[in-house]
Amino acid sequence: MTTRVNLLDLAPTDAEEQLRAFAEAQGVGAYRGSQAARHLWTTPTASFDAMSDLPRAFRAELERAFAIPRLELAAEQRSEDGTRKFLFRLHDGQTIETVSIPDGDRVTLCISSQAGCALQCSFCATGLMGFYRNLLPSEIAGQVRELALLPEPIAPTNIVFMGMGEPLMNWRAVDVVLTILNHPKGCGVGARHITVSTVGVLPGIEALARRPEQFRLAISVHAPTDELRRMLMPVNIKFPLERVIDAAAAFTRRVTFEYVMLGGVNDQPGHAAELARLAKRCGAFVNLIPLHPGGAGSYTPTSPEGIKRFASEVARHKVEVAVRRSRGTDIAAACGQLRVERLRRRPPRAANQNGEVEIA
Ligand code: SAH
Repeated sequence: MTTRVNLLDLAPTDAEEQLRAFAEAQGVGAYRGSQAARHLWTTPTASFDAMSDLPRAFRAELERAFAIPRLELAAEQRSEDGTRKFLFRLHDGQTIETVSIPDGDRVTLCISSQAGCALQCSFCATGLMGFYRNLLPSEIAGQVRELALLPEPIAPTNIVFMGMGEPLMNWRAVDVVLTILNHPKGCGVGARHITVSTVGVLPGIEALARRPEQFRLAISVHAPTDELRRMLMPVNIKFPLERVIDAAAAFTRRVTFEYVMLGGVNDQPGHAAELARLAKRCGAFVNLIPLHPGGAGSYTPTSPEGIKRFASEVARHKVEVAVRRSRGTDIAAACGQLRVERLRRRPPRAANQNGEVEIA
């Protein structure tokens, strides 16, 4: 048996091209290929068989030549605040998380790019489980497609790569996914509404900068000095803060700093002043993140008043700053937490910083 081409791993125009050529070869006219292509992302349809505007025989031929695999929904949790968290099981048993966060007339989807993560940031639940593998484009963009296929479809206005994994260590897939999410023949989400969040993988930042679309970049800074950052984020040894800030400064579009507030660790006035200095260097907007309970390590969150004081100190240096509202704390909505809850009895695997992980 020949393996079927997974159309969901391809950029929308490549998938359409293949479908048009196939339709022509089948003698039904190339336009039937374009029609089928619209069922991938524009108006997602669960299976070839369900593409009821196509001739039945052609649907059967499509099924023989191509695949549009589903992700299995393994669990769902709903928060009182409307946040919903989905756990998807992949063909090899790996599980990944997707979070949907409604806010007024916006719906932000937080998607995963890897199963597990190699980076082992000391406060992060995903880091604790270690790295399993990179996700395919069909498994990353597939999260968005699955939510569009729900009986009550979720249509995102914004998408952030802030689920499990480091997107810029899976650039080959993320590169394609960005096209799928943004392209008018894909999900059609505006590039300014798509944010790639990274610990600062330099080759990945450069690759993102080379994309002509206005995709946004968020950098997980979390500490304003190398010394402290190395302790919180081992990746700082490979990609030191100064070089990450330089790369952010060279990025011509809007950059956001993420800064998780760890009580007594990175929340002192001196840290705020240093952070503001770095933000100024690259015109970044600072997002202060209250520590989500249930991550890794034994950190305590900075008090709300402490966060406010820290924010004023940053703002005093004429840097734009906001405090992110914690969402879904009642459903373990922070990075990696749902999967960790389900796997609690399994020991964490050692992460491999350089081995299997593909860098850009
Ligand atoms: N690897 C990427 C994207 C995934 S994590 C990155 O690090 O940017 C998305 C954000 O959630 C990161 O800023 C991460 O540091 C933060 N995060 C992880 N665990 C957290 C927790 N327990 N509380 C608050 N933020 C957390």
